[in-house]
This record gives sequence, structure tokens and C-alpha cells, in this order.
Amino acid sequence: MQHKDIKKIIILLGIPGSGKGTQARKLVERYNYTHISTGDLLRALDSDPEADPVDKQMLEDMKTGHLVADTLIYKLAFAEIKKQLDDNRGVILDGAIRSVEQAKAYHDFFEKEDVLDDVLVIDIKLDNETAYRRLTKRKICSDCGHIIPFSQKNEDIMTCEKCGGVLTVREDDNDETIKLRLEEQGEKMIAPIAAYYDALGVLQTVDGSLDIETVDGTVIDVLEA
Ligand code: AMP
Repeated sequence: MQHKDIKKIIILLGIPGSGKGTQARKLVERYNYTHISTGDLLRALDSDPEADPVDKQMLEDMKTGHLVADTLIYKLAFAEIKKQLDDNRGVILDGAIRSVEQAKAYHDFFEKEDVLDDVLVIDIKLDNETAYRRLTKRKICSDCGHIIPFSQKNEDIMTCEKCGGVLTVREDDNDETIKLRLEEQGEKMIAPIAAYYDALGVLQTVDGSLDIETVDGTVIDVLEA
């Protein structure tokens, strides 16, 4: 099906558990874009036996709920974005920007790639309590890393719908680390980034507390407006 032309670079902002990954996967299906989740890239690095040990050492921060070094994020994310843009394919960036400093570094990168006019940012708003509830109940596939968001429909699922792998709990989805992530990567972290993009005139906001399909509908409306 043909869809209206949308921006090539869609940046999803939101606190952990706000549904960035879930919405990104829906957009990938609809627009045939590539989903770039820095969290997924970092977890893939962690399970790659051939990865650079210096890079792997930096993942300790992730396991304890802290942000990892900017240099590692830029190395992983910029290479992936460039590859997709060179293939003339759009990207959905999920959790890729977690400070104003990072936002500025991405801005410089987009300027260099001559795609600044092709950026749209969507902030998926959610309160901490709902996020906490979702994070304690979601599952991840131990084989392919697919994340299964919490919903009544998914409550009793034990195997991955994509690859049949066994579902487990993400290493950083335990009570203590979730609380720390919501503190460090919550609205306090998002607000200045959203303000930065608002000043650039590229920010849209959606209500992430509604059910998955409703949020998806709103995101599509925003993209195709
Ligand atoms: P996520 O899968 O998006 O929840 O990310 C999991 C973890 O990866 C985060 O808690 C951070 O430790 C790390 N991470 C992901 N993206 C970034 C980023 N842009 N900057 C710093 N750390 C990140």
C-alpha cells in the first residue's frame, strides 16, 4: 500500500517503558523503515563474542541502569544510520538520544549528511507509575531479543512469536534497576531534550498511556499530517 510521504528520520523520545520500541516496530512494518534501537545495538554487542573488549567493558553501565558513554552510542548509531540513508531507506530512532549533548551531536551528524530537513521528533509521554508497571511485566526473547510488551493478550505467552525462542526477563528489568532507570532516564532527562527539539520546530507529542493501537494511530496521524 502507498502511504503519504513522511520524514526520513523519525526520532522517538520517551521514558523507559513509554512504548518507543513497540511503536517503532509498528512503523517499520507500515513504512518499511529500519528500526534503530541503541539499546538493541548495545545488547547485540554484549552477546557478540567477537566484539571489541573495550566497547564491551562500557556495557557495565547499561547493566546497572546507567547511560553508557556517548562515544559508544555515536560509533554504533551513526554507522547504522549512514548505512540506511545510503540505501535510501528511512530510519526510526528508538532511545538513541538521551541528553541534549547527544541531540547536538546527532544534529551535527545529520547536517553533515545533509538530512536536517528530514527530521521529525515524537515525544511519547508517560507517567512513571505506568512505566514501572509495564517494565516489571514485559518479556524478552532469549534468542532474538524481541521485546514483548505487557498486555492481557501477552500475559501467558512463554515463547517468542518471531522465532519460537524462550521468553525471559531483560537483565535490566529488575525492580532496583527499573527504579534507577526511571530516575535517571525519566522525564527529568527527556524534558530538556524535548525543549531542544521544540525550539528547532520539529517536536510533536503523543499520549503514551493509551493502548498500543490508539498510540499507533496518533503517531501515524502526526507523521502523515
Ligand atoms: P533501552 O533498550 O532503550 O531501554 O536501553 C537500554 C539501556 O541501554 C539504557 O538503560 C542505557 O544504559 C543504554 N542506552 C541506550 N541508548 C542509549 C543512549 N542513547 N545513550 C546512553 N545509553 C543508552
